[in-house]
Amino acid sequence: MIFTSGTKAIKEELEPAYWFIFYHDELLVSVGDKSSSHIPFMNDIKSLRASFSDIQYLGLVDGKDSYIASLSEKLSLKDHVFIGLRKLFGSMEDDWYWLANRACHLIFWKKKNRYCGSCGEAMHVSEDEVAMTCSKCGNIVYPRISPAVIVAITKGDQILLAHAAKFSGQMYSVIAGFVEPGETLEECVKREIMEEVGLYVRNIRYFSNQPWPYPDSLMIAFTAEYESGDIRIDNKEITDANWYSRDNLPDLPSNVSVARKLINAWLSK
Ligand SMILES: [Zn+2]
Repeated sequence: MIFTSGTKAIKEELEPAYWFIFYHDELLVSVGDKSSSHIPFMNDIKSLRASFSDIQYLGLVDGKDSYIASLSEKLSLKDHVFIGLRKLFGSMEDDWYWLANRACHLIFWKKKNRYCGSCGEAMHVSEDEVAMTCSKCGNIVYPRISPAVIVAITKGDQILLAHAAKFSGQMYSVIAGFVEPGETLEECVKREIMEEVGLYVRNIRYFSNQPWPYPDSLMIAFTAEYESGDIRIDNKEITDANWYSRDNLPDLPSNVSVARKLINAWLSK
C-alpha cells in the first residue's frame, strides 16, 4: 500500500474513496469475508453518510482519496463492525493498521480543537497543511504529538518490569513517561526511571520509535543498563516492580506495542 499525506481531495467525487469512520475510539471496518478487516469504501457505507461529522481529508491511498469522519451514534451496518484499534491489530495488514492509527490521532485532534484557544472563534481545517486555523485571529494549531520515552532496563540477564496502576489485569511492562519541556530524551529516561523505580542507569541507547495515538503520543524507545540503587516504587503510578529473568516472566504487553518489541529484543539476545 502506498500512502501520500494530503490536505485536499485530488478528485471531486467521493467514489471510490476509503473512509475511516470513528465512533469515539472505535473504527468501522468491513468484515465481509471474516478472515480479515478492511477500511470500507463510501459505496459500502453510504447509508450512514448523513450522520458523518468532523470530516477531514487524509490523503491518497494507492491512488484513491481517503477521508476521516466521526459518528455520534454507534449505527449498525451489515458486514461491518466498530472495533477499538488495539483489538484490531493482527486482523488488518500492518500498513493499513498504522494508517488507521494516524486517522484516529487526527480525529481526536480535530474534536479537541473545534474552537480557537486564543479567541474562541470556530476553527477550520487548513487546505495547505495538516493544521487548523482560526479565520478571526489567525491562530494555527498543528496536531499535537506528545513525545514519551519508554525504556528497557537490564541488569545482567534480568530485565526490570513494572505494574502500573493504569494497566489492566496483571500485566507488567517496561518504564515509560512523557518528555517534559526543556528536557533531552536521555534526561527524560533518567528522570522517569528515578521517579518510578528509584534506580540509576547507564549506557542509554536508542532502540526504535512508534506513533501511539491514545490520544497523541510518539513513543521513543531506549535500552539502558542498571547502574546502582534498590527498586523503590512510587506506589502511585507504579504499584509493583521487579527484576525478571527469561524463565519467570509475568503477563506482558501485546505485540502491537513498542514495549513488547523491547522485551522481545531482550528475549532474543
Ligand atoms: Zn482565534
